[in-house]
Amino acid sequence: AVPLVIAVSTALSAKKGLLIRDRTQFEGAKDINAVVFDKTGTLTEGRFGVTDLAVINGMDENEVLSIAASVESQSEHPIALGIVKEGKKRGLSLNKVSDFQSMTGAGLKAVVDNQEVMVVSPGYMQQNKIDYDQDQFKTWASQGKTVVFVIIDNQLGGMIGLADIVRDTAKEAVHSLKEMGIESIMITGDNRQVANYVGNELGIDQIYAEVLPHQKSDRIDEIKAKGQKVAMTGDGVNDAPALAKADLGIAIGAGTDVAVETADVVLVKSNPLDVVNVVQLSKATYKKMI
Ligand code: ADP
Ligand code: MG
Repeated sequence: AVPLVIAVSTALSAKKGLLIRDRTQFEGAKDINAVVFDKTGTLTEGRFGVTDLAVINGMDENEVLSIAASVESQSEHPIALGIVKEGKKRGLSLNKVSDFQSMTGAGLKAVVDNQEVMVVSPGYMQQNKIDYDQDQFKTWASQGKTVVFVIIDNQLGGMIGLADIVRDTAKEAVHSLKEMGIESIMITGDNRQVANYVGNELGIDQIYAEVLPHQKSDRIDEIKAKGQKVAMTGDGVNDAPALAKADLGIAIGAGTDVAVETADVVLVKSNPLDVVNVVQLSKATYKKMI
C-alpha cells in the first residue's frame, strides 16, 4: 500500500504541475544542495529572434540569410527556428538542401545550390582558425546575443546575432534556492560572453560555458565528486545524459521527449521556479517519516 503522506504528496505535486516519474529520486530531492540549469530553453524561453546581421563586403544580406535559413530549415534547434523565422519575415525563399549534417555542439553543414555551407559557433571558428571581426562579435556577445557564422565554400559570408528571452521566473528561482542554501549553476554550449550576461542577470553562482553536449554529464560528475548532491534541469536531447547522471533529473515540460523520458521529475508548466517547489515538497513529504 502507498503510505498516506505519499498519496497526499502525489495529489499535491500533480496540482502544482510537477510530474514525479521516480519516487526514490524525488525523496532524495530534500537533500539537494546544488542545481545545475541548462541555459537555452530552461533559464531562457529558447525562442531566438535574429537581431543583427553583418555580411562580408560584397555579399548581399538577404542572400546570406536565405542560404543560412535553407540549411537551418533542416534543424530543430532554437537557433535554427529563429533564423528560418527571420527568412520568412523577409519573404526569402529557401533553396534546395542536400548532404545535411549536424555537427554536435558546433553547428550545421549542408550543400545548398552546389555550394558547401556551414552555420557554426564561435568555438568552431576558433578551433578551425577562421578569421572574423572580433570587435563586432564581442559587441553582440556582451549584449547577451548568441552569434553564429555563415561559411560559404570555405569563405566567411557573414555573422548573425540572435537574442533569446530570459524567463522572468528564472531569477526568482535562483534567489529562492540561494535562501534555501542551494547553489545555482548554469551550463551551456553557448559562448562565454553570452553565458556571463545571462548568469549575471540571474545571480547564478557558477557558470560552465562552451560545454559540448557530451561534456555536460562530465560536469555533473565533477560536481558530485566535490560531495555535492546535485539536481540537473534541462530541456534538450543534449541534456539527457546529464539528467540521468544527476542525483535528481528535472525536465522542462515543453522540452524534448528524450529529456522528459530521462528525467525523474517533469515541470509540466516549464517554470524554473517549480524546481524550488520540487525541493520543498520533497522536504515536506519525507521529513516526518521513518
Ligand atoms: P545549449 O547548451 O545552450 O542548449 P547547444 O549545445 O545546443 O547549446 O549548442 C551550442 C552551440 O552550438 C550554439 O550556441 C551554437 O553556437 C551552435 N549551434 C548549435 N545548433 C546550431 C544550429 N542549428 N545552427 C547554428 N549553430 C548551432
Ligand atoms: Mg537547452
